[in-house]
Amino acid sequence: MRIDVLTLFPDAFRGPLDVSIIKRAREDGLLDLQIHDIREHATDRHKSVDDYPFGGGQGMVMRVDVLDRALQFVQEQDGPPGLVVYLSPQGEVLSDRLVRELARNERLVLVCGRYEGVDERFVEHCVDREISIGDYILTGGELPAMVLIDAVARHIPGALGDEVSPEEESFAGGLLEHPQYTRPAEYRGWEVPEVLLSGHHAKIEKWKMEQRLTRTRERRPDLLRGDGPQE
Ligand code: SAM
Repeated sequence: MRIDVLTLFPDAFRGPLDVSIIKRAREDGLLDLQIHDIREHATDRHKSVDDYPFGGGQGMVMRVDVLDRALQFVQEQDGPPGLVVYLSPQGEVLSDRLVRELARNERLVLVCGRYEGVDERFVEHCVDREISIGDYILTGGELPAMVLIDAVARHIPGALGDEVSPEEESFAGGLLEHPQYTRPAEYRGWEVPEVLLSGHHAKIEKWKMEQRLTRTRERRPDLLRGDGPQE
């Protein structure tokens, strides 16, 4: 899978996507991540990427012409054009279902806004999906893009290795995961549920399913009602 990111702050992507599972997926050629600096597509002598909003109001708005040139540059590179996603607090809220849907694309182009956001004409004419990571405002789309990349990359076949499956994690099948324990079996008098030490496979599986149901009912009843992120 290929993911292109358009950003004014390419350096923000150093670090979080260079460790662990994502690092390995990149090294193994499963994820081709390309970060592009939008400012390289500014043409005036000040390299301006933003301007005052028409009609007045606070802050600055990212220019449609600069964004369009940056996007065209990326889309004209090798391979099929990508699905264009603008990270925006006004978009559809990211969920497990949406992550799985995005992971089915061969290529994604993620556009990170800054300031007061982007000129609406760019959204109207160039963007396929607007996606939010939650009902709060961040200073830019870089962290939301990294959240999306991390979540999507886990669904690239082979990215998690053989031992782990996204089907056993929270939200798969509309339930939260059961609680997890590891050694030592007893610590400061805090014990592990006895059934997990019993070696009785069927009983353990039954316990895990009960835990998943109880947790989901207590913490996220919306998932059971079917009006949570799964639906
Ligand atoms: N003026 C915009 C509004 O009220 O809808 C908010 C702009 S925000 C300060 C700047 C940029 O951060 C946005 O263009 C977007 O790319 C990103 N951003 C902020 N919050 C976000 C969120 N919850 N999800 C996704 N992107 C977000």
